[in-house]
Amino acid sequence: MSSPDPNSSLDQTQGLVDFHCHLDLYPDLESAIAECEQRGIYTLAVTTTPRAWTRNNELASKTKYVRPALGLHPQLVAERSEEIGLWESLLPEARYVGEIGLDAGPRFYKSYPLQVEIFGRILSACADAGGRILSVHSVRSAGRVIDMLTSHFPPNRGRAVLHWFTGNASEARRAVQAGCYFSINRAMLDRPASRRMVASIPPERLLTETDGPFTVFDDRPSKPSDVSTTVSELADALGIPPSEVRDLVAHNLRQLLKDAGG
Ligand code: MN
Repeated sequence: MSSPDPNSSLDQTQGLVDFHCHLDLYPDLESAIAECEQRGIYTLAVTTTPRAWTRNNELASKTKYVRPALGLHPQLVAERSEEIGLWESLLPEARYVGEIGLDAGPRFYKSYPLQVEIFGRILSACADAGGRILSVHSVRSAGRVIDMLTSHFPPNRGRAVLHWFTGNASEARRAVQAGCYFSINRAMLDRPASRRMVASIPPERLLTETDGPFTVFDDRPSKPSDVSTTVSELADALGIPPSEVRDLVAHNLRQLLKDAGG
């Protein structure tokens, strides 16, 4: 069936951006990467431990659309803090870094001091290396994450993208002043307060993400192609057509790469 809808190009995924997805947590990493490549979705394949880097890097480095990120997830720091040495030794190979950050939620609060220590080391290493792009988790710790970015990772040494940001509008403003970008997922657009916070972010700092497979769409784990629905929801929140959001995000991704330098 053909439709005159000017937004029908959104049925196609070519050129969409999923800037935070755990491709290696789907049943088959190779086919998850192949699908992004086939559909032409620019995907940041974040990892949760540096032990996952080599395989992600090997598979993704052959692609046009998928980029691997070197991570040490704050929720794993309690058991894996000793992997920071491995993480540091791999940083010269990685342009993208994530998933990293802080999680002060009740399940992970016990390791919070250790998370702060590890996150500080990661930010300092990235600042020393220069040119890195970071995908940063900040659950219940937006203020502290922004403070640490400000003190450890100046904007002339790289760029941070705040993933699934749940801070308030004034914290979002501070993050913008610190040079941060934001990757927006559907769950952030569900609640009115969070939707208003997203709409308050300067449009030139917005990217899209799924955080698959940790988010759910249609009663199954999200996958990168579902980012087309994030584009539609974000368009609705911003009051502009989906095709404009799509162009905006593609442009912002290019700008992010320039801003990060290196
Ligand atoms: Mn994640």
